[in-house]
Amino acid sequence: MTPSANSPYTTIDLNWTGRPKSIASALIQSDGVNALIDPGPASTIETLRAALAQNGLAVQDLHAILLTHIHLDHAGAVGALIKENPKLDVFVHEFGAKHMMDPSKLLASAGRLYGEKMDFLYGNVLPVPEENLFALAGGETVTIGKKDFTALYTPGHASHHLAFWDAGERTAFVGDVGGITVEGDTFIMPATPPPDVDLDLWNKSLDAILALQPARLFLTHFGYQHNPAAHIARYRKKLAEWTALAKSLLESGKSEEEAGKEFVEAVAAETRRGVSAASEAEHYIFNGGLYLSWLGLLRYAKKQEKSRPAS
Ligand SMILES: [Zn+2]
Repeated sequence: MTPSANSPYTTIDLNWTGRPKSIASALIQSDGVNALIDPGPASTIETLRAALAQNGLAVQDLHAILLTHIHLDHAGAVGALIKENPKLDVFVHEFGAKHMMDPSKLLASAGRLYGEKMDFLYGNVLPVPEENLFALAGGETVTIGKKDFTALYTPGHASHHLAFWDAGERTAFVGDVGGITVEGDTFIMPATPPPDVDLDLWNKSLDAILALQPARLFLTHFGYQHNPAAHIARYRKKLAEWTALAKSLLESGKSEEEAGKEFVEAVAAETRRGVSAASEAEHYIFNGGLYLSWLGLLRYAKKQEKSRPAS
């Protein structure tokens, strides 16, 4: 909840499922205008409310929400926030807008994955009225007080993913395009959930972010990375390794369930080797949703297999 020393934004730790440094929302306050980038899931709305209060704000004092994408850990709280503050403007990629208005598909697919844990993890997700939504394609500028944020279309993790670029502060809010790394760490973990994962698009999105020459990245999971070029280079390597692992498991002839188990075990072991403190390794393993990442990479590998010309 403390503003970073060299940042004009406030990082809000949503303390998701009681775990600090899992999901970060960014509070922007400029010239009397208040906005959040990714308010998080509906399950952490009371934590968000308390963090706003620490900054002298109530939900009614918010003017806008900028969404990097609509996954429930980033955007699930939006409907509930609008119920309290119907004036909120919500900026979202055009491919995601309809699922904000009617979250039933989003909830059904999450429900299949999480079952009875859904409420604990994500809370009560409410629909967002059409009149609150501003659909973006990328290239637009969203102005918050005296700050301009350029929307950058960044598919790869999700087909409806945007990054927001503050050229004045040379800061890129990259949602889940830059993976999972707790501020201060160098260990990195991809988040590759179904159904949209696409490595080529992802690498192009990383190119587009790097081309801006950012001084820092803000990751939802979790916080700032102050050396974007090094971070992105590490990330590309890890993403390629995970994809290769998923492909080799797919081609091994094992059942998908068995292969998935092996993927999760291999990645968990790699995490335990890469992160010195055991509790921190478990933090990554929990937050990474490794089986979900396996399912996303499996789907991507199968798509690629289908599109390959038969020899
Ligand atoms: Zn996420």
